[in-house]
Amino acid sequence: MIVFDHVSKTYPNGYQALKDINLTIEQGEFVAIIGLSGAGKSTLIRTINRMHDITDGTLTVDGVNVMELKGARLRQFRRNIGMIFQSFNLVTRTTVIKNVLTSRVPELPFWRALLGAYPKKDKLEALEALDKVGILDKAFVRADQLSGGQQQRVALARTLAQNPKIILADEPVASLDPVTAKQVMDDFRRINREMNISVLINIHHVDLALQYADRVIGIKAGEVVYDGPASEVNEAV
Ligand code: ADP
Ligand code: ADP
Repeated sequence: MIVFDHVSKTYPNGYQALKDINLTIEQGEFVAIIGLSGAGKSTLIRTINRMHDITDGTLTVDGVNVMELKGARLRQFRRNIGMIFQSFNLVTRTTVIKNVLTSRVPELPFWRALLGAYPKKDKLEALEALDKVGILDKAFVRADQLSGGQQQRVALARTLAQNPKIILADEPVASLDPVTAKQVMDDFRRINREMNISVLINIHHVDLALQYADRVIGIKAGEVVYDGPASEVNEAV
């Protein structure tokens, strides 16, 4: 469960990107965060895994105050939260399976990761994750030979191999064509339903948000202006 209690965020240059955010997100929810460019969507989801620090209020994840985490505990906490980006962030010159396995590197002795000597169990789990997103047949293909939609699925598989409880996705389908975007949204929804992973997606396509999410949060100039079922989104956003 993620709880924002009077959370604000002011960037070092003095710009207040989040203003008194109060939200509770239950385990297993599928949430779309919508709003114009610059509204604060990216800042909002990036506070959850501490890519950005909040400057006021309290943010807790499963009862843990995220601002109190540091060192090894912060790294462990981040490992339970998957992050997906618009630009996929893959190592394009290497194979799909190696990209998925990089999610394991922090757990391996450095020299083993360097040699690519991953335990068999990790390799099997990586293949299983690729199977879950329907691209098992691409496991040994170089990542740069895949289409955008396939690359985003690799990113999703890499995140699944971390066994996350939460997946944060920052405009994951913004650079995909409409058909591929829907396929990737289908993957997010299936993963959400089958694995009870909480999914928070920033998305500027309101139609996709309404079609896929259970709950829609509308952000405008750093404030929550709508929070409710997708079926009731109105002019507020
Ligand atoms: P969105 O994801 O909705 O497009 P962002 O969260 O990226 O919005 O940005 C919200 C606001 O905060 C924007 O006005 C942006 O310019 C500003 N902002 C983002 N990052 C920084 C930063 N590092 N320093 C100062 N301002 C920032
Ligand atoms: P992304 O789409 O990956 O979030 P952005 O282009 O929104 O990338 O932002 C890239 C980087 O620039 C981020 O670290 C963000 O915090 C920072 N940034 C965005 N807007 C501003 C701003 N107005 N002032 C300073 N830094 C900013």
